[in-house]
Amino acid sequence: MEHVVPNYVAGEFVETGSRFPLHYPATGEQIGTACEAGPEEIDRAVRAARAAFQEWSRTRPSERRAVLNRFADAILKRGEEFGRLETFDVGRPIRDNGRPYIERAAANIRFFADFAAMLGSECYPMENGYLNYVLRHPVGVAALITPWNVPLLLETWKLGPALAFGNTAVLKPAEWTPLGAWKLAECAREAGLPEGVFNVVNGFGTGSAGELLVRHPGVDLISFTGETTTGQTIMAAAAPTLKRLSFELGGKGANIVFADADLDRAVEVSIRAGFFNQGEFCLSGPRLFVEEPIYERFLAAFSEQVGHLRVGDPLDPETRMGPMMAPEHLERVLGFVERARARGARVTGGERLSLPGPLGDGNFISPAIVTGAGTEDEICQQEVFGPVVTVAPFRTEEEVIAWANGTRYGLSAVVQTGDVGRAHRVAAALQAGTVWVNDFFVRDLRVPFGGMKQSGIGREGGHYSLEFYTEAQTICVAV
Ligand code: NAD
Repeated sequence: MEHVVPNYVAGEFVETGSRFPLHYPATGEQIGTACEAGPEEIDRAVRAARAAFQEWSRTRPSERRAVLNRFADAILKRGEEFGRLETFDVGRPIRDNGRPYIERAAANIRFFADFAAMLGSECYPMENGYLNYVLRHPVGVAALITPWNVPLLLETWKLGPALAFGNTAVLKPAEWTPLGAWKLAECAREAGLPEGVFNVVNGFGTGSAGELLVRHPGVDLISFTGETTTGQTIMAAAAPTLKRLSFELGGKGANIVFADADLDRAVEVSIRAGFFNQGEFCLSGPRLFVEEPIYERFLAAFSEQVGHLRVGDPLDPETRMGPMMAPEHLERVLGFVERARARGARVTGGERLSLPGPLGDGNFISPAIVTGAGTEDEICQQEVFGPVVTVAPFRTEEEVIAWANGTRYGLSAVVQTGDVGRAHRVAAALQAGTVWVNDFFVRDLRVPFGGMKQSGIGREGGHYSLEFYTEAQTICVAV
């Protein structure tokens, strides 16, 4: 397989001379190159989106709904191809890229297509007879900038509402994972999305496609998902042109297990929260706090099951954990583990794995459990973005809430308990945009999604996406 990944501008696939290599994380093998969009392609993409906005913003919602539903159908139809491509892009095991994953990606488009077509409006009659009502207008050209860890989910999560509410879009996928966005463009074309409504530009961040897009005066709004520090850079670069921003940033979720939780379930949930997507997951729960009376028992059961997690060939349906995204990312994760050990923490796993055959050059690491780390230590404060879970015992509810809230992040958390009252009380006290009780990563597209503190700005999902992707206009009528 030797892909040459083009840009998609004004309904055409556009190759450029500046190329960068793409590698399969499981073998290190080069699987293709992507064409970097320079200033000319970025400008053409934004202009195409602006031109298409004239028509698309006025297209009837029911027509937009029809074409976007065809777009969702096209994604589903090519589900297997998307699943495999995402494994080659990210290294995520194929078992996690199956039908549910693809259906969720398609649902991101379909949900907002239907939602936008069925929207009503607010009305505020006044005592003196005046009537206020609110209209929603699309904003304009949306720049959608996405990370590498769950590309297809995040790209469709942004594209769905942006297009359904009548905006046009320029998507910049992460430089490490451009394969899915290319195929999304093919689906869009197949579905009959008018040219210029959806464009894809490839490249890096600073000094490349990302920054060019952020600074372009023809872009009206930016929906960005990625690291907190990148969010800071983007915010500064977008300031001179006063763009509307929505940020979904880093996380360092707490997973709190009370002594009255169902132990087997708590272990199973904690494995998913810690190691789904090799821990390269913003919503994961890498800080595990377990109430003292069950601490030893829980740790024994958790360690045993982590020991059974099969790490290896992502194309093998039995594999539970694939490689780290890139060699430099593997080094970064190993660095965290080494420094935690040097500070006196006990670590099991967290070792570079050399697998047989072609996987020998893959970026594999064994899942790590870290105990004895201080809550202020780097390993408990920084986003490691790998299969590394710290486990610590706690005594009281107050203590664990303080620890859970004691980072700069506030994206998500997990609370596991058999006490209904406690579940509600602790969940409400946590500074996290989403709290799951006795489960992990259950998503409803209607609810607000986003982070508190430095995990983000704004919320998306259902009405919250409507807020971001539209301009509200009040019309006041004398009657
Ligand atoms: P990243 O911030 O390095 O890159 C994300 C995207 O931004 C990429 O497309 C990149 O090219 C682009 N970019 C980088 N610098 C830029 C600049 N100066 N201007 C414009 N664009 C720029 O993040 P990553 O390493 O790809 O992804 C991992 C991060 O994403 C983690 O911090 C993770 O927590 C976060 N994340 C958050 C969520 C969420 O929903 N909150 C979801 C997934 C990932």
